[in-house]
Amino acid sequence: MNFDTDYRMTIDGKSVGSAKTMDVFNPATGEAFAQAPDASREQLDAAVAAARAAFKPWRARPIAERQAMMRAAGDVLMANADDLARLFTHEQGRPVDAAKQEIQGAAMWLHAVSAMTPPVHVIEDSPTKFIETRYVPLGVICAIAPWNFPVTLSMWKVAPALVAGNTMVLKPSPFTPLCTLKIGELFSAIFPPGVFNVITGGDDLGPWMTSHPGFDKVSFTGSTATGKRVMESAAKDLKRVTLELGGNDAAIVLPDVDLDEVAQKIFFGAFFNSAQICVATKRLYVHADVYDGLRDRLAAIAKAVKVGDGAEQGTVLGPIQNKRQYDRVMDLLNDARANNLTLIHGADIPDGGGYFVPVTIVDNPPESSRVVQEEAFGPILPMLKFDDINDVIDRANASDYGLAGAVWSKDIDAAIDIARRMETGTVWINHNLDLRPDTPFAGHKQSGFGVENGMEGMLEYMVPQVVNVARG
Ligand code: NAD
Repeated sequence: MNFDTDYRMTIDGKSVGSAKTMDVFNPATGEAFAQAPDASREQLDAAVAAARAAFKPWRARPIAERQAMMRAAGDVLMANADDLARLFTHEQGRPVDAAKQEIQGAAMWLHAVSAMTPPVHVIEDSPTKFIETRYVPLGVICAIAPWNFPVTLSMWKVAPALVAGNTMVLKPSPFTPLCTLKIGELFSAIFPPGVFNVITGGDDLGPWMTSHPGFDKVSFTGSTATGKRVMESAAKDLKRVTLELGGNDAAIVLPDVDLDEVAQKIFFGAFFNSAQICVATKRLYVHADVYDGLRDRLAAIAKAVKVGDGAEQGTVLGPIQNKRQYDRVMDLLNDARANNLTLIHGADIPDGGGYFVPVTIVDNPPESSRVVQEEAFGPILPMLKFDDINDVIDRANASDYGLAGAVWSKDIDAAIDIARRMETGTVWINHNLDLRPDTPFAGHKQSGFGVENGMEGMLEYMVPQVVNVARG
């Protein structure tokens, strides 16, 4: 397969182009370097019809066969990791080594989920009654993914949905369609036609999909604002929804930490992928006793970390992925400047047309400032001082978001006590960003609706069916 050209959709097992195309930009240069199909409504209809036709035979297959194909899909991702990583860097911006980790991580995800089997619960097995609950697939899944982890977050949907017996039409973000298109083609050699379809398009395609009557469920990852629109649109015919949305995650650093040990981890927990991570630390609350020490260490790391084109050797942090997000991040930065907040910048950014923003630490801004209250989704981290633990937990929880959080302390019991008081779906202690195929991931409050990952995540692609037998 040639990964540098010929980006085509996969509909009913066939590779198809489209009458219209859309430009795909390299965020490190700001220049268009490829074209992706811009699907028509008819092509969406064709993909949904193919997925519908494939559903019955796919559901009827023994789960062991679906699991074996998912394992094979993981093998194919792993075997093509180098080529996909190179393409990933061009369209997404992340440095090649980290891009390769995303592909390999997604492959391992498919392998792990391929070993999962939904449970059957026997509620009564007596001389007079036999009652069991089993789980059956929903039907055709509409999967919509964002641009920050385009491969991982798509595979989080593909693996459990297909193993559970559903079929799917997957739409990547128009900002990062290329790896997903190639994965659609690679997987067409594994799954029967119609089981896994990939289509791409502009801003109309998502709303067409969520309102399409041929889908039984929408699994969406993206911003909270879009998630609300998705839920509204899906409500018309009561499609099930799973929404993984935004976050404004707080980390709380207690005074007993070893600063030299934690500084690097805290830095990358906030800035990895140029801070374009739903579960990145986005508000860093630091006890007054260690505030200055941590700030100075983070600033030193920021100065040493190379920001640049992900295709260049030595780059640690790439550009912001797209112009729209770049403008949002610059708006927040300019707001911080206009309000005379104290900004500490890291290494210089490259000149030219790329969407680069310098790593920026905002030194103890007011709690009410926009950079604290809004999800930056870019490399601007507010550091905030505290000296009372009850007060800082209240500040951390004072958000409509509730995705994840972190606590840093040598006193694990104290940290667990704080974790349990945080209003988020995940809390990490002394590390960060550790998401796993066997562990449920669920946003509280406006960070989500439903669960991904773990058996809970797989069951979101199924409904319970009770078989209730009268005996004798
Ligand atoms: P976005 O909401 O703009 O877009 C996400 C996807 O939805 C894209 O594929 C887009 O084309 C599509 N879309 C846009 N409008 C739509 C509509 N009206 N109906 C249906 N689909 C539509 O989000 P983004 O900018 O791509 O991603 C960034 C956001 O995603 C951040 O807020 C981030 O926190 C969040 N995110 C959450 C998670 C999570 O698991 N909770 C993971 C990654 C990113």
